[in-house]
Amino acid sequence: MAQQEPTVIFAWVVEKTMDGKTERYLWDLGFVSDISKLGPEGSAAISALFIISDVPASAQLPELLNHLNPPPATLDTLTGMILSHAHADHYGALDEFPSSLPLMVGPGTKAWVDGSPDEEKPVPPWFWNHPKFIGEVGEEGAKGKGEGWHKIGSYEKAFDFFGDGSFWLMQAPGHCPGHQVALCRVSTSPDTYVLLGGDTCHSRYIYTPFPTPVARSEIACWAHPAEGPAESTKGTHTMHVDVAEAYKSIARLTRMEMEDNVICVVAHENEVAEELGVGVGEMKQGWEKWKENGWKKGKERGVHPKPM
Ligand SMILES: [Zn+2]
Repeated sequence: MAQQEPTVIFAWVVEKTMDGKTERYLWDLGFVSDISKLGPEGSAAISALFIISDVPASAQLPELLNHLNPPPATLDTLTGMILSHAHADHYGALDEFPSSLPLMVGPGTKAWVDGSPDEEKPVPPWFWNHPKFIGEVGEEGAKGKGEGWHKIGSYEKAFDFFGDGSFWLMQAPGHCPGHQVALCRVSTSPDTYVLLGGDTCHSRYIYTPFPTPVARSEIACWAHPAEGPAESTKGTHTMHVDVAEAYKSIARLTRMEMEDNVICVVAHENEVAEELGVGVGEMKQGWEKWKENGWKKGKERGVHPKPM
């Protein structure tokens, strides 16, 4: 059944050299290998939705950085961390990173976390209180070289973090408050981009091609195994707090994917890991040459997922 397929969780290092100085940001922090770290409410909430097994401690960030050769970053070379959104499979073991590393999140995240009662907080307080600085993109301390929000591509609100059009942090509402995606320029002349799509949706086949209206409720909703076999029951759960907004954000992703020089990758895009042969706790080197390497070919061929 679909619910028992293993799920990829991507984390990325965004590296930028400007004026002879290199900055490195971790985009998403993966998942915790031991969910009891999330506290009783947090681990119960996760267990109710997913089966968690076989997440080796060595595949958990930041420990994972010690097992990659060469490491794309170390705790000493990281400049900061950016979350696509404040869910447990994206903030990982936040408390194991140095508290001096700044954490940046999308606008709306702080109100959501701070405004939720303790037992319902999307981030446990002992994680959330750990970094010395948490800023929402665009705020003082979380602006980089950016100035204000701009329309870029199909996105209405994008922040030019390095000030040169190379790294846009873009609001992509729907999945949860503060959800954001990132458009990263990975080569110039010609310009090519990787769009880190976070949890805009949870499979390649949701945003490419964009589903027809009749398929929409199916792709946004799912059934817990306890409700019966997937094929026999109508899904009553949804991955998104605002399904209407989520559709719009998915459509934006689809539109960007239509560009020859953009490749979108959502955080749980299992097909990418399969096509590139990336296993648990492994990495692929830089994405500067994704186009010449043909990493978008699988999508262009319209390969259909394995029957589940
Ligand atoms: Zn996720």
